[in-house]
Amino acid sequence: MDFKAFLIKYAEIGVKGKNRFRFEDALIQQMRYALQPVGEFSIRKESGRIFVDALEEYDYDEAVEALSRVFGIAGICPIVVEENKDFDHIAAVVCDYVGERYEDRAFSFKVNVRRADKKYPIKSMEVAALLGEKLLERYEEEGLHVDDHEPDVLLTVEIRDKVYIYSDEIPGPGGMPVGTGGRAMLLLSGGIDSPVAGYMISKRGVSLEATYFHAPPYTSERAKQKVVDLAKLIARYTGPITLHVVNFTDIQMAIYEKCPHDELTIIMRRYMMKIAEHFAKESGCLALVTGESIGQVASQTMHSLAVTNEVCTMPVFRPLIGFDKQEIVDISEKIGTYETSVLPYEDCCTIFVAKHPVTKPNLNVIKCSERHLDDVIDEMMERAVSTAETIEVC
Ligand code: ATP
Ligand code: MG
Repeated sequence: MDFKAFLIKYAEIGVKGKNRFRFEDALIQQMRYALQPVGEFSIRKESGRIFVDALEEYDYDEAVEALSRVFGIAGICPIVVEENKDFDHIAAVVCDYVGERYEDRAFSFKVNVRRADKKYPIKSMEVAALLGEKLLERYEEEGLHVDDHEPDVLLTVEIRDKVYIYSDEIPGPGGMPVGTGGRAMLLLSGGIDSPVAGYMISKRGVSLEATYFHAPPYTSERAKQKVVDLAKLIARYTGPITLHVVNFTDIQMAIYEKCPHDELTIIMRRYMMKIAEHFAKESGCLALVTGESIGQVASQTMHSLAVTNEVCTMPVFRPLIGFDKQEIVDISEKIGTYETSVLPYEDCCTIFVAKHPVTKPNLNVIKCSERHLDDVIDEMMERAVSTAETIEVC
């Protein structure tokens, strides 16, 4: 059946008191962004509800898919909208709706009526009872029956300025609309974890910027393109992402030449954090985000994380900190980043990795090792920052 409109239900933002309109407006903005490639829609809000009206022919599946990527949406209900509120007319439309929507009508149902238009002459309970009768008259022989407690189909009729009829609710992703929770800098590698970390933080309403470190010619153009592709996949949920691509080769080589090899990854991570924080401050981000999870590799033990964290002056959020790898893989499959993440291109961290990296680094020892870089590191850091490429991903 052809639906020309949707009713959007939102959960958590409904409880934000005086700030509610800000959340609703952010949600509408994100919905507009998501629906833009699908076609022309008008979006309006009305007392705790958001309505989407199609202004032209559109692909239903594409529209639902786009909306199901908008954080803040709890449910997407395809609706029939009727301007004529006369009861007999509504009853006919409701009967036709059930006939068209359900080929097999041997199920139990309940009619739920909401009367936002208090001037409507018939009370909600009565409208529900009358509509139930009409439906039974038409379809009882086909097996349609009433169940007030656990109906197979809950048919909702909302009487407002117009009448809205629906019985399906497609789950949305939940969370908060992007843009309501400030901005954060994601350290985005080509792996499985960091895109998921970006998704998770963004789900709480945070908009994202990203930094990627590569080491040409040790890492290829294809490896960089993979990260751009991952950023594109995340941007479907988060909106546009500014991606900083930093040439890390000189710094990495210097660390490799001058510092103990078992400390390479930790020292590298510390410089990555510093550079990412530089860009974060420049663009008003309030935190850094990584895909680290306790114990996953040597550089992610509690000791290593503490040493990495020590260089940062802003909060570092690690949304995957307590997740098992399989749990992270499951989310990456769900959000569509997994297949790209597992493409076998080299990462700068894996090229210069030590055979036996320290798992319990000592901060003083690491700082001592870093002193070997004193002569060169400031200039190298400046160059890495000033030569970084900025890519607008959307
Ligand atoms: P991922 O799957 O995200 O690559 P990983 O399990 O490979 O994670 P590490 O390589 O130890 O883990 O990286 C830990 C975190 O450090 C990553 O989740 C990411 O946030 C950041 N990171 C690592 N390498 C890079 C890189 N080349 N550019 C940007 N950030 C990086
Ligand atoms: Mg990695």
